[in-house]
Parts: sequence; structure tokens; C-alpha cells
Amino acid sequence: MAANKSGPTESGSAQTDAKRFLVQCDGCSFERSADGREEATRIGTHHRRETGHEIVAVELPPSADSA
Ligand SMILES: [Zn+2]
Repeated sequence: MAANKSGPTESGSAQTDAKRFLVQCDGCSFERSADGREEATRIGTHHRRETGHEIVAVELPPSADSA
């Protein structure tokens, strides 16, 4: 009835070409994974603003699925 496009693309985040990064803090035990460099930078900037710590973003290899 109301199905215009039949594309099952509803999995939270679109998987285009975004690399994964592991954002680590140099001042505390803060650690977070991010999808894409923009997200990593965003997280790092946020944490830096909050705490003044220095953030290091490490690129993660693809296909690291271990949930
Ligand atoms: Zn920190």
C-alpha cells in the first residue's frame, strides 16, 4: 500500500565508507569508538572541551566485528 521503496536500510547508521576510529584520551581512561573521522574528531573535541585532555584517534582496521 504505502511501500514506495523496498529497501531494508534501517540499521541505525548508514554503512557507506566510514572508517572506524578508536578515540583514546591521553589524560584519563576515556576510550570510545567512532564511525568516521568526523565523529572521532567530534568526540575528541567534546572531551577536550570538557576536561582539557588531549585526545588521540587511532584508525581501526575494517571487519572488526566482535560483539
Ligand atoms: Zn580524558
